[in-house]
Amino acid sequence: MTSVGFIGLGNMGGPMAANLVAAGYSVHGTDLSAENCAAAREQGVTIVDSVADAAASAAIVVSMLPDGAAVRSVYEGAGGVIASAPEDALMLECSTIDVDSARAVAAAVRGRQAVLDAPVSGGVEGSKAGKLTFMVGGDADAFARAKPLFDVMGKAAIHAGQAGNGQIAKACNNMMLGICMLATSEAFTLGEKQGIDPETLYQIISQASGSCWAMLNHNPVPGVVETAAANRDYTPGFAAGMMLKDLRLAQDAAANANVASPLGAEAAALYGVFCNQGHGHKDYSGIYKMLRGEDL
Ligand code: NAD
Repeated sequence: MTSVGFIGLGNMGGPMAANLVAAGYSVHGTDLSAENCAAAREQGVTIVDSVADAAASAAIVVSMLPDGAAVRSVYEGAGGVIASAPEDALMLECSTIDVDSARAVAAAVRGRQAVLDAPVSGGVEGSKAGKLTFMVGGDADAFARAKPLFDVMGKAAIHAGQAGNGQIAKACNNMMLGICMLATSEAFTLGEKQGIDPETLYQIISQASGSCWAMLNHNPVPGVVETAAANRDYTPGFAAGMMLKDLRLAQDAAANANVASPLGAEAAALYGVFCNQGHGHKDYSGIYKMLRGEDL
């Protein structure tokens, strides 16, 4: 039975670890939150006290943490994953973080250890269903070794090239998602104010050239897409605060590469205002209400 160390058993990591247990892996996990540890224990994860304990006997380490600072603190230094894991361990760092932190961790691995940056798309529902999409940066041989785990936790895993490229792909994807949500919100407000029923507009655009994933799946207008957060008072789903984090990561990456990103910059600014209004914990589709000048 392959031994997996799992660090970060939150909304995303908890179900990912549970799916590995269900597939027959022996999972030793840890988290700062006692509540999240207890929930993971119920799913068959063996809870240990520290990152070092989770990594010590692991053939593979998976991490799902909030940001780059958390990832570096977990991987680097005495008691970190790199110092604690066996020499031939493989590490799958699945958090959404800045490219520089991902590349710093990749540069810090020693000997035969290998690390992949493998951020995901698919949200909590995709995590629970084992239907995430992994965007993976790092060594091709390490990607091949990781494939069986990606197959358990996801529906797709795409090798994007060198270390850090998974994070770049994720930043590009979520920048498009944020921009598309704003475009959908703007178009549906315009249509409705000019007299078109939103459901009719949905029927038209979903079969026309303006269609996009955000409009089809996360439509921000209540009553249009049954499963969308708009129909449960914009309870996430995907929190606006996380979207803002991702848009800012994309802006940082654009600035580092000297690339113009005016729509991404505008999206980051608008989500910044939305979060400053106290809506960071609401679903990102709630920005539709702000654009209409309505209370959430
Ligand atoms: P979360 O806050 O629910 O989980 C993060 C967990 O990490 C928490 O349980 C926290 O206690 C734990 N943690 C933090 N520092 C730690 C440390 N030093 N040692 C051990 N545990 C530590 O967040 P989440 O929604 O699971 O998101 C995790 C990552 O996945 C983020 O990078 C996020 O951007 C990304 N992501 C989230 C979604 C989503 O829909 N929630 C979708 C795609 C990607």
